[in-house]
Amino acid sequence: MALPVAPGRVAMRKTFGIMTSYRRRFAWVLVLQVAAVLATLVAPQLLGRLVTRVSEGTGTVGYVDGVVAVIVAVTIAGAAINRFAQMYARTLGESVFADLRERMMTRVVHLPLSTVESAGTGDLVGRTTNDVSRIEFLVRVGVPQIMVCTVTIVFTIVAAAVSDPVLAAGLLVVVPPVWAMMSWYLPISVPAYRAESAAHARLNGAVTETVENAETVDALGIGRRREAVIADRVAQAWGLERYTAGLRLRLFLVLDVAWRSPVVVILIWGGFLAARGHATLGAITTVSLYAMELRKPIAQLMFWIDLVQVSQASLTRILGVEEVRDDRTPTGAVPDGTRMALRGVRFSYRQGVEVLHGIDLDLVPGERLAVVGPSGSGKSTLGRMLAGINPPTSGSVTVGGVPLTDLSEAELRQHVALVTQEHHVFVGTIADNVRLGRPDADDGTIRRAIEAIGANSWVDALGEGMRTMVGSGHLTLSPAQAQEVALARLVLLDPHTLILDEATSLLDPRSARALERTLSTALAGRTVVEVVHRLYTAQDADRVAVVMDGRIVELGTHEQLVALGGEYASLWEAWSQE
Ligand code: ADP
Ligand code: MG
Repeated sequence: MALPVAPGRVAMRKTFGIMTSYRRRFAWVLVLQVAAVLATLVAPQLLGRLVTRVSEGTGTVGYVDGVVAVIVAVTIAGAAINRFAQMYARTLGESVFADLRERMMTRVVHLPLSTVESAGTGDLVGRTTNDVSRIEFLVRVGVPQIMVCTVTIVFTIVAAAVSDPVLAAGLLVVVPPVWAMMSWYLPISVPAYRAESAAHARLNGAVTETVENAETVDALGIGRRREAVIADRVAQAWGLERYTAGLRLRLFLVLDVAWRSPVVVILIWGGFLAARGHATLGAITTVSLYAMELRKPIAQLMFWIDLVQVSQASLTRILGVEEVRDDRTPTGAVPDGTRMALRGVRFSYRQGVEVLHGIDLDLVPGERLAVVGPSGSGKSTLGRMLAGINPPTSGSVTVGGVPLTDLSEAELRQHVALVTQEHHVFVGTIADNVRLGRPDADDGTIRRAIEAIGANSWVDALGEGMRTMVGSGHLTLSPAQAQEVALARLVLLDPHTLILDEATSLLDPRSARALERTLSTALAGRTVVEVVHRLYTAQDADRVAVVMDGRIVELGTHEQLVALGGEYASLWEAWSQE
């Protein structure tokens, strides 16, 4: 199941929401930009008057010098204001972009784990990398530039109209063709660009699948078929690329003519009016200088409009991450006690393929329950139900009478946590890695957690103790050490119920046993559900649950189950023979 894409309207509303949260800074940029534009508008005005005066023969040398001095001063002032306007515009763009990215990351790290797993991490990684960098330029540079261009165009046209409305009306001839072109281009380009991105994603998918499974492809002798699939996808992508390139070609043809035409139009129109005595030479000078100044912002605006189209698809994918429905709705209910219970829990990862078929289980607070059973029987899935990682498809998992799905993520983790054999060491110090369990923990608390797990012996042997940098590019921890760090994190988090899913299976039997002893001291008083693959752990447990085919088939103490002579008894017999 893929992650959702935000519908156009939602994306628009959210973008607008982000912008309004910066309205003061946008207003400030606007004010500065207007000032900068006004400064550039002065020179054509003065030059126009100068031409009029000189052609009438009233322009003295002093007057000319004065005008030149004013133009120089205004130009310098304009450049200075422009510098600040650009600077504020750019920092605003950076802030908006940073905000967008942080918003996305916050959402990403709080996505329901089950959604991330079923959508595949590829889609999510694509959105946080490719899509983000695709809109980066637009948000950081484009948004402020679009503002700047719009302000410049509007004010230049207004200034031209003030100088000579009839003459300036000539500028409007570019509007109909540009308008027509845009209303043709915009509605068809967005779907076309989106189809193009999708075609590229399909092509990437086909290539990656084939390359990653090259051995299977060879073994099955389906190389030709994969080639045909890839060729087909290349053809689709190529077709769409050609199509969008054709769209751009036609757009730019019209716009190119359109943005060059104002000066020509003004000169012709001005000549026509001047011949009939309706326009002065000065006004023609002023308006045609304005027409020339319009060219740059119009060209820039065109560039950005095209990029806006290209970026829209990425934006809807980025904002789509926020559309993922939460798998929990905190009701504020407070669990009464720490007793966990499963009632009629059924679960399917995929529709129609049920993995757990109705499980009832009551955990006794403080007990140690070992879960055993063959591979694929649903032990890990049961652990995920208990830890609230996946909500059950039907039935309920409760703590103190409150369904886990009624608790917020933070509340849930205070009650129950899951440790598997998959653990990740984050780049940072050992203390940082442990602190993930409780971000506000001080060094003393972290130290005690490390000691509780018995990791202090090797941590202290490191040059900088728990301040040693670990993770990619730094010291590499052994699987056992990494696992201990993960467990220290758990001690810090201190939930009353812990689910350990083969948490020690990567360690050699001797260290596993040692760690388990330390762990049981560290976790004294906690309820521990432990999926085990070494049966001596089951022997030590208070109770044992045997899971077969998605059901708990036997439940009792080690002695009871051995005496029962059922599944557990035969597992135990087989295991103790080894
Ligand atoms: P165990 O831990 O006992 O080996 P699991 O709980 O991992 O068993 O798996 C139980 C069943 O659920 C297996 O048939 C497995 O193929 C299936 N399964 C496990 N994880 C997933 C998943 N993410 N998507 C689909 N099926 C899964
Ligand atoms: Mg498992």
